[in-house]
Amino acid sequence: MTAYATDDLLDYDEAMERFDPVLGLEVHVELSTASKMFCSCSTNSDAEPNTNVCPVCLGLPGSLPAINGKAVESAIRIGLALNCEIAEWSRMSRKNYFYPDMTKDYQISQYDEPICHDGYVDLEVDGQTYHVEVERAHMEEDAGKSLHVGGSDGRIQGAQYSLLDYNRAGVPLIEIVTKPVRGLGAKAPEVARAYMAHLRDVMLALGVSEARMERGNLRCDANVSLMPKGSDVLGTRTETKNVNSLRSVEGALRYEICRQAAVLASGGSVRQQTRMWQESGEYTIAGRDKSDAEDYRYFPEPDLVPVAPSREWVEELRATLPELPAVKRSRLKQQWGFDDVEMSAIVNAGALDLIEQTTEAGCAPASARKWWLTELSRRANEAGVELAEVGMSPAQVAQLQNLVDDGTLTDKLARQVIDGVTAGEGDPQQVVDARGLAVVSDDAALGTAVDDAIAANPDVAERIRGGKVQAAGALIGQVMKAMKGQADAKRVRELILEKLS
Ligand code: ADP
Ligand code: MG
Ligand code: ZN
Repeated sequence: MTAYATDDLLDYDEAMERFDPVLGLEVHVELSTASKMFCSCSTNSDAEPNTNVCPVCLGLPGSLPAINGKAVESAIRIGLALNCEIAEWSRMSRKNYFYPDMTKDYQISQYDEPICHDGYVDLEVDGQTYHVEVERAHMEEDAGKSLHVGGSDGRIQGAQYSLLDYNRAGVPLIEIVTKPVRGLGAKAPEVARAYMAHLRDVMLALGVSEARMERGNLRCDANVSLMPKGSDVLGTRTETKNVNSLRSVEGALRYEICRQAAVLASGGSVRQQTRMWQESGEYTIAGRDKSDAEDYRYFPEPDLVPVAPSREWVEELRATLPELPAVKRSRLKQQWGFDDVEMSAIVNAGALDLIEQTTEAGCAPASARKWWLTELSRRANEAGVELAEVGMSPAQVAQLQNLVDDGTLTDKLARQVIDGVTAGEGDPQQVVDARGLAVVSDDAALGTAVDDAIAANPDVAERIRGGKVQAAGALIGQVMKAMKGQADAKRVRELILEKLS
């Protein structure tokens, strides 16, 4: 296997001059229910291999599945959050195929009767709104995990043997499929990324999934095809499988667009195939060729009754949906008085909830924003951790700003307090006390330092006596330096002018 891309690529801008990309995003969401989709086994993913299994999820003959009510509820709530219709009657189907990680030789999924259908998502990218239509969101079960041993980088090719872990077999999944998304132009990869980020935020707001892409809780199969400019006929698509970071979704689509454009521009035709994103080299490689009429011999699952959620239940779930990310964002934007640029900086930094909690703890929004987006973001970056794990809580940030507001701290001293808090030395007040960081405004202490500064700078003192009040700045600087930045600058100024008048 090569470690670099061998495909011809057309420059992205040139590709965009000649072609319009069309996207199709299939996203799998792993639900965080306590038990699996059709049995009572735990979904805990940290368990020893093959310990969370039973006759149902191992597909033993004679075992019977029973549907997980909580998973159905989550499916409906997800559908509602994506503006879908909720089917009055829906059914599970068997999708037949063989793979060693699938115990039954079929996956219980949904085919022509998904529980949620015909929804949409509106996304904002660079100040423009993009409308993405959701074709369906259906329920299914996950497969087990294969571990190929002895080959290169865990691939089955060249492996000596494979290990199978069925703990994940039967874990509930919701698959969300878009209609073909046209009209995105050069923004297509960014819109796909924004769509994934939106789904992640929705799942977190609903509390139905951990939604950690790096753990595979949320994974995307990214389809893309190109149409020559002016054409209205969909081109042949490729499907890059299991892309599991926001950055990779954008990167994989960009790469595929450049690759397909080069194929088409040289008179070739795109092969309909699955592809795999190579994280290391940032390119895709071919998987298997795939036709639309792939025959899974779907048929209705005879061991499960249809899912027919009552309208009362659906309305009850609709009425109790939490505030969704887009609504929350515009509410807070209004409330805080920030503009679009400020808000997107906050969202991109993952600081929205932290700033909200900081303001709830009594801090002004602008100050909360300042600490989280400057000092704390910088420290989180340096430490390579999420902002929420930087070692300072929203309540502590609010306490810090309080100490600045009441004159105990200058901004400069506050930064030293942050050092202490993030080093685990306690709350801001404790750090101030322990490190002796408070501003000194006591006249006795300041007076001595002012006298020293005057004595050391007779020429400056003379100018101030002669009416050059601005010259006081130089003396204030001296006092500050002598007192390690802890002098109350306003009081120092007053004392200097009193003494020299
Ligand atoms: P499959 O079973 O092959 O994954 P699906 O119908 O589940 O097929 O998903 C295909 C995805 O690709 C859907 O989001 C669909 O809207 C989208 N799609 C279909 N045709 C095209 C095309 N020509 N170009 C881009 N996307 C497409
Ligand atoms: Mg697919
Ligand atoms: Zn089980």
